[in-house]
Amino acid sequence: MKIIRVGLDVPVATLFDYRADDVGADDVGRRVLVPFGKRTAVGIIVEIAATSEVPVHRLKSALRVLRDTPALFTDDLRLLRFASDYYHHALGPVLMNALPARLRRVHALQRPVEACFVLTTSGEAADFAQLPARAVVKRRLLDLLKQQRALDAAAVKTVAPTARAALKQLIASGWVERQNVAPRTPAPGPHSAAAGPALTPEQAEAVRAVCARRDAFQPFLLLGVTGSGKTEIYLRAVDAVLRAGRQALLLVPEIALTPQLEAMIRERFPATTLVSLHSALNETERLQHWLAAQAGRARIVLGTRLAVFAPLPELGIIIVDEEQDASFKQMEGLRYSARDLAVVRAQQRSVPVVLGSATPALETYYNAANGRYQLLTLAQRINAAPPRIACISTRGEKLEDGLSQPLLAAIAARLARKEQSLVFINRRGYAPVLMCHACGWLSGCHRCSAQLVLHLRDRRLHCHHCGYQAPVPVTCPECGNQELAPLGQGTQRVEAALAQHFPRARILRIDRDSTRRKLSWHAMRRQIHAREIDILVGTQILAKGHDFPHLNLVGVVNADSLLYSTDFRAPERLFALLTQVAGRAGRGDMQGEVLIQTEFPQHPLYAALQRQDYAAFARDLLAERRQAGFPPFVCQALLRAEAPRLETALAYLARAARIAKTLAQGVTIYDPVPAGMVRLAGRERAQLLVQAESRVRLQSFLAAWHARLAAEPSTRARWSLDVDPLEF
Ligand code: ADP
Ligand code: ZN
Ligand code: ZN
Repeated sequence: MKIIRVGLDVPVATLFDYRADDVGADDVGRRVLVPFGKRTAVGIIVEIAATSEVPVHRLKSALRVLRDTPALFTDDLRLLRFASDYYHHALGPVLMNALPARLRRVHALQRPVEACFVLTTSGEAADFAQLPARAVVKRRLLDLLKQQRALDAAAVKTVAPTARAALKQLIASGWVERQNVAPRTPAPGPHSAAAGPALTPEQAEAVRAVCARRDAFQPFLLLGVTGSGKTEIYLRAVDAVLRAGRQALLLVPEIALTPQLEAMIRERFPATTLVSLHSALNETERLQHWLAAQAGRARIVLGTRLAVFAPLPELGIIIVDEEQDASFKQMEGLRYSARDLAVVRAQQRSVPVVLGSATPALETYYNAANGRYQLLTLAQRINAAPPRIACISTRGEKLEDGLSQPLLAAIAARLARKEQSLVFINRRGYAPVLMCHACGWLSGCHRCSAQLVLHLRDRRLHCHHCGYQAPVPVTCPECGNQELAPLGQGTQRVEAALAQHFPRARILRIDRDSTRRKLSWHAMRRQIHAREIDILVGTQILAKGHDFPHLNLVGVVNADSLLYSTDFRAPERLFALLTQVAGRAGRGDMQGEVLIQTEFPQHPLYAALQRQDYAAFARDLLAERRQAGFPPFVCQALLRAEAPRLETALAYLARAARIAKTLAQGVTIYDPVPAGMVRLAGRERAQLLVQAESRVRLQSFLAAWHARLAAEPSTRARWSLDVDPLEF
């Protein structure tokens, strides 16, 4: 009798044992249908064993091993196991969540999406000369099948309009058959790449360094100022990897906003199959792309954080662009860092990993500074001089809806020269809060510790955290006063103020509200490039990776709100954000100008930003962190708890802290505290920080602690562990 250990999407740390006699070693990593309680569930076979701790007579039998798709490879399973161990998240859900949604369902592949066509044995042996001379399409199909061994439906279609009919006849005659599984190994066409620009010496050195380590694990930090040509390094490194017959994985923060990168890659490697993996794809596309990666047909995978788990049998390099970006960290469920897992995966597979950024995470910079990562520096901007950055002191100044006179004058000057300006403000909506000046009432969300943002277009108050909406009240709910005033600025208000001040300027607002509506992002970009826009107003979605060749002034409004935050990572994030925004200004012979409105023009962060000296800034921050005992000098984990009432969450954490203290050796257990944002969507949250100087020590403590917590009787608080937390 054989026993299979199966991972299921249930939040317990164990695997489930079933009897299954028709399994072989190559079924490890395959999906399997099993009875679970009263239902049938899909799981993944993790191991095949001879014995079980469950008495034999109580073992149920697996219903069916699903062989319609290939098994997960051992190497991919290894990464998922690591994620499960390191983030202390049950293996079953980790495995199942790595599958495209359609493969998680019991009736996933009733209609196979990945059909392909191959020659049968008699087709192989057949003499095509027998075919009548007019059977041109059939002949072409057969020739192609011989050459490429398998064709998918899309490839068939490209042969001729009548190719499908011809194929049907070939199937009827027994020469061709349909397979529901894509070919395991494709015949990768000869690799070809369009010519790129001649590399600068800095770039050439970086490419040389990466290519020199092609067959070994080596993390690189590619520290390159905005516009220094990091993308070109990625393309060259990918080229080398493709040439060697391997696959490349590129991770980017937000794929919806980076169609440029995809277009650039396709242009450089026109004959290479690239697939994307991100949440904007529908389920069928996700499945197809995932299967293409697994089958090795896709040679380049471009995706957001979830793509770090993409099955890649011939992985040759991983690249993480804007590696500091917060979106690489998943904030719920398996709280993983795709950037960190990329490094782990590269190590497991003995391939290089390139982390690129102008402003890396301090953790990453520290790894480069101490030699664990190889540092590659690109200090020169390619097409332009670095932008001139200056502060406008707003202390005691009268502002026009948040805009200072010097900023307005600078915009006017650009308008006169028909150049574009960008006003950056990191808040969407009209005003972040509505206020009653009679009694001090502020529009708050009753479900969150947050304020309701005034949106003018629909005249409603919106909570940006939980989605709650309400009409704008006519009178103050507290005192009945009829004069409620918007307080502070959002993108809509700045847009309105600019429209009033520059009635003839063509203004385009770009934030999450505007990209959801009317014009697609693509259309907006086209307008900007065609110089149909004079002033852009936008949030950080404008900051990332776009090049606007006619933009030469960037004004930053309201940056100070991030300057004095309780989060110790706030300065690092603000520096990164402002560097990105500043990078939008200037091009070619136009020197860009960046004006930052601030009440604290002397603040060291702004001073460092003006010098565009990330390294110096990072060294200072690292010194502070070392002194204060913050990461990267300690390793942290957060036990998060939430409940209808804060006391419940805190009481749970107090009990967890007592348990922790019985286990902790060399681990500091802090007191439970309310979360930075206590209420969210009607639930109240608290957290308990634990930290240690050594990762190994913290991990062994977490394993023991987590096991104890999981064994506790159930509580009214919902809890989860966040290893290497980024938000407090
Ligand atoms: P980064 O990602 O570092 O901010 P990009 O990769 O966007 O910078 O490069 C900035 C610009 O320089 C792009 O338009 C790119 O096409 C161009 N570029 C990159 N490398 C070269 C080169 N060696 N010669 C000429 N232009 C280059
Ligand atoms: Zn009032
Ligand atoms: Zn809310």
